[in-house]
Amino acid sequence: MRKKIVAGNWKMNLSLDEAKNLNEEINVALGKNENKCDVYNFIPSIYLTSLIEKDQEVVIGAQNGYPDKNGAFTGEISMNQLAEIGANAVLIGHSERRQLFNESDDLLKRKVDSAIGEELKVFFCCGETLEQRESGNYKEIVIEQLSNSLFHLAINDFEKVVIAYEPIWAIGTGVTASPDQANEMHKGIREAIAHAYSQEIAENTSILYGGSCKPSNANELLTQTDIDGGLIGGASLNSRDFLAIISTYN
Ligand code: PEP
Repeated sequence: MRKKIVAGNWKMNLSLDEAKNLNEEINVALGKNENKCDVYNFIPSIYLTSLIEKDQEVVIGAQNGYPDKNGAFTGEISMNQLAEIGANAVLIGHSERRQLFNESDDLLKRKVDSAIGEELKVFFCCGETLEQRESGNYKEIVIEQLSNSLFHLAINDFEKVVIAYEPIWAIGTGVTASPDQANEMHKGIREAIAHAYSQEIAENTSILYGGSCKPSNANELLTQTDIDGGLIGGASLNSRDFLAIISTYN
């Protein structure tokens, strides 16, 4: 059975004190309940060593990592270094990385291989622009992103991957995909996984939705048949909203 997952993406936000407080609030609240979903937070890398603790409720991950183990890559942090300091997971292919930092499918493929090699849990993001959606072939475009960077993995490695479908036109815009639009794409992604691997693997893969998900729309989005959780940006920056979204699965 695939896992339900709610993950926060803090992006380049919060002071260290704010980050520590938010992490603490979420851990305390989660500790009081029997949670029916796994909770992750992808935080600025500079805060990883301050926020990673043993036995906490929230799994802490990085928002990016570089595929080479070491070398002349000024300003980068390798997957190997992330794993060494205790990060458990990494986001790969977020649309902001693809668009603002020109990350190609090929680079993302190398990042996926490196992260898997370091036993980091990969959250692989995919999604189409508004122009691509309006062109009508958005499904093919998203599936091509997966084929180019992810479907080369051997079955036992692919089983460790979580996919996040994030239509770019819905990220940080306040516009969200309708539950039908999101579920249609999730079904398409699941069919593509079945084609690349098997029906069983497809049924066991968690596929998250991301894009302006908030307490007011979480219930209708996150309870769709093929939506297994959410990757949450803005609404993960305060504990009340993030916990309200998590409570969809209680
Ligand atoms: C994101 O950046 O992954 C995201 C989904 O952002 P938001 O929820 O703010 O749209």
